[in-house]
Amino acid sequence: MLAYPTIEAAESSLGRNLTLPERLWFAYSADKSDYFLYCHNILFLFVIFSLVPLPYVFAELRRIPVFDRHKIQPKFRLSLQEMFRCYWDVMRLFFLVVGPLQLVSYPTVKFIGIRTGLPLPSGWEILMQLAVYFLVEDYTNYWIHRFLHCKWGYEKIHSVHHEFTAPISFAAPYAHWAEVLILGIPSFLGPAIVPGHIITFWLWIALRQIEAIETHSGYDLPWTPTKYIPFYGGAEYHDYHHYVGGQSQSNFASVFTYCDYIYGTDKGYQYHKKVLGKLKEEQKRAAQLNGGKRD
Ligand SMILES: [Zn+2]
Ligand SMILES: [Zn+2]
Repeated sequence: MLAYPTIEAAESSLGRNLTLPERLWFAYSADKSDYFLYCHNILFLFVIFSLVPLPYVFAELRRIPVFDRHKIQPKFRLSLQEMFRCYWDVMRLFFLVVGPLQLVSYPTVKFIGIRTGLPLPSGWEILMQLAVYFLVEDYTNYWIHRFLHCKWGYEKIHSVHHEFTAPISFAAPYAHWAEVLILGIPSFLGPAIVPGHIITFWLWIALRQIEAIETHSGYDLPWTPTKYIPFYGGAEYHDYHHYVGGQSQSNFASVFTYCDYIYGTDKGYQYHKKVLGKLKEEQKRAAQLNGGKRD
C-alpha cells in the first residue's frame, strides 16, 4: 500500500517527477496491501517451476540434437510419466509446505524492513543487493548442505533430493519437506542483512529458482549467459554431486565454486574432470586413427 493518494502527491513529496517504472508501480500497487504484494511470491514460484523447465522436458523427450549433444549423462533418460511424477510431487510440496511457509513468514519480511513504496530502487542498487543475496545464500547453503551429508542428515532428510542420480529440471526443489524449510533460511538471510524493495525480493526469489532449475537440468548448454558469471558452478558442476550420490563429499555449493575450492571439497570433481578429459582425448585420437586407416 503506497503512502500517497495520488501520483501528484507522490511527486510533490519526492520533489521530482516519477519515472515511468515508478508510475507503473504506482498504478499497480497503490491499492494493494503489502501482504498481498508479498504473496505474489507464491504465484511466481508456481509459474516459474511450471514453465521454465518445459524447454528441457521438450529437449529430453524429442532428443533435439542441439540440446542432446550437451546432455551430461546421455545414457540416463526419463519418460514423460516419470517427469510428470516429479513435477506433481514438487507441486504438492509447494502447496503443502512452501506456500503456507510464505503466508506465515510475512511478519518476518515486515520486521526485516522490505519496503513496497516509492521511490523505486535504481538498477545499480538492485544489482548490488542481488549480488549480496547470492553470495550470502551460497555460503550458508554450502554449510547446511554439507551438514545434510552427514550420516543422520542424509538418511533422514537429504536422500530424497538425491533420488535423482541424474537430475532433471523439475527435480530442483524435489526434496524432503524438512530440507525445503531448512534451506529457506539461506534464502531469507541476504534480504535480512541488506533489506531492499519488494521488487528486488521478487527478483531474487525468481532468479534463485531459475538458477536451481538450470543447475539441475542435466544439460550443460554452452550458450547459457551464466557461463559469463565468474566462479559460477552451473549444471555440470551440480550434476556431478548427484552422480556420485550419497557418498558425495564434493560440490556442495549451490551457486558458485569458490566455497568448494577454499574448503577442499571439489577434489573428487576435479579428478573426475581430468580423467574424463583424458578419456575423451584418447577416444578422439582413436577415431582419427581409424578414419585414417579407412582412407
Ligand atoms: Zn547433496
Ligand atoms: Zn541438487
